Amino acid sequence: MHENIRYINSGDFEKEVLQAKAVVLDFYSTECPPCEALAAKFEPLSDIYGKDVTFLKIFRQENRDLAQKLGVSSSPTLLFYKGGRRVGDQLSGGIRRSEIVRNLELLIPRERSAELRTAIARVSTECEVLVIGGGPAGLSAAIYAAQAKLKTIVVDKDLPGGQVKVTHLVSNYPGFQEPVSGYMLMHQMAEQARGAGVEFRSAVEITEMDLENKNIVIDGFETIRAKKVILAMGSSPRLIGVKGEREYKGQGISYCATCDAKFYEGKDVIVIGGGNSAVEESLFITKFARHVTIVHQFAQLQANKASQEKAFANPKISFLFEHEPREFIKEGSSVRHVVVENLKAHTLKTLDCDGVFIFAGMKPNLEEVADRFALDQWGYIKTDLQMHTNIRDVFAIGDVASKVYRQITTAVSDGTIAAITASKELEVTQ
Ligand SMILES: Cc1cc2nc3c(=O)[nH]c(=O)nc-3n(C[C@H](O)[C@H](O)[C@H](O)COP(=O)(O)OP(=O)(O)OC[C@H]3O[C@@H](n4cnc5c(N)ncnc54)[C@H](O)[C@@H]3O)c2cc1C
Repeated sequence: MHENIRYINSGDFEKEVLQAKAVVLDFYSTECPPCEALAAKFEPLSDIYGKDVTFLKIFRQENRDLAQKLGVSSSPTLLFYKGGRRVGDQLSGGIRRSEIVRNLELLIPRERSAELRTAIARVSTECEVLVIGGGPAGLSAAIYAAQAKLKTIVVDKDLPGGQVKVTHLVSNYPGFQEPVSGYMLMHQMAEQARGAGVEFRSAVEITEMDLENKNIVIDGFETIRAKKVILAMGSSPRLIGVKGEREYKGQGISYCATCDAKFYEGKDVIVIGGGNSAVEESLFITKFARHVTIVHQFAQLQANKASQEKAFANPKISFLFEHEPREFIKEGSSVRHVVVENLKAHTLKTLDCDGVFIFAGMKPNLEEVADRFALDQWGYIKTDLQMHTNIRDVFAIGDVASKVYRQITTAVSDGTIAAITASKELEVTQ
């Protein structure tokens, strides 16, 4: 047990939380990877803030009534109390260190916050292989590197697992006779990496990235120096740039059917797109929604023939070809109307709906580092056959790399190649 952290039960809540000056309370569970990721931040922060704020932990499974009363439905959840009253945010899931610090600072005087901030010692860590991104590509690279006895760290801005951890079922990853849950597949991969000795820095922010010298700073205080850096940041849905899209993302506009289709039970949904993702995800959405209208700019779908046939045969799906969205309109708390243009007649009409899913392809998660690399015409990093980039000792793998097909198997393959190459190159130089 950490010296500045105490464990309580619901019977202690009144005295320990409501009658105390400043408290952060962590509802945790066992066998909970996000709880472990939080513990790695909670404990060091208790060393810094522990004299000013009481750090408490409460086991959610054994204190369900209290959790329910306080509106806590997942682990971990952090609650902040000042003088017995709730303040700040209720933080859950992959909680970032910066979010915890921001809320802790609400509990103490401003001058003291400033004093404590300067007391935070910078940490420096060395490793042989630093992997940025903990999806299937990054985890495969990390497993191979750690099994080659290289000190390996995986840094992810979220919890490990990448896109697959939010994919409902995966039916094409070899080794599973029945479709496997994406979450479980990635949980196993992350545990395999951990077992091989990989260290994780999860739900962190990369605040500086010097790829030429292979130094990165996370959360503004830990510098990681590596001999080899493997970039595995994956890709994200491409925005279509239509009025209202950015503002209403998460308020009726979604890019992930697996994550959000369940919210549209018995509702009417509009899907924008006509490729494989749009058609396959529309079929999935019909398990919940009453009706799906696919709005597509061309006269025909671009998806593979088998998916097209299933979609045309599905009575819950209708199609609006040669139309493009021009505006998303919110009513109340969610998008309820989509203005579309008929691309032939150039006329506008408004469609009513309960929500919109957009599937307009993906873009690499390269943001601030893109200009340092040789990229292909779509903005993905060019590599050689061993996954080297144009920067010495920096590799790119998985969905960020230029390639024809982006799948779990191709991501895993890239990770394998990069890690074996890195390991062989390190053997020569050491
Ligand atoms: C809806 C959907 C369904 C799919 N279904 C299948 C399927 O059934 N079978 C199949 O084979 N493939 C499927 N795919 C494709 C597959 O998910 C990807 O090809 C695969 O996940 C790519 O792996 P990756 O490790 O390169 O990237 P990702 O899985 O995207 O992982 C990237 C990781 O990097 C992290 N990251 C991003 N930016 C940063 C940063 N700046 N700093 C730190 N960390 C960062 C992210 O948090 C993430 O954890 C599907 C994709 C989608 C969108």
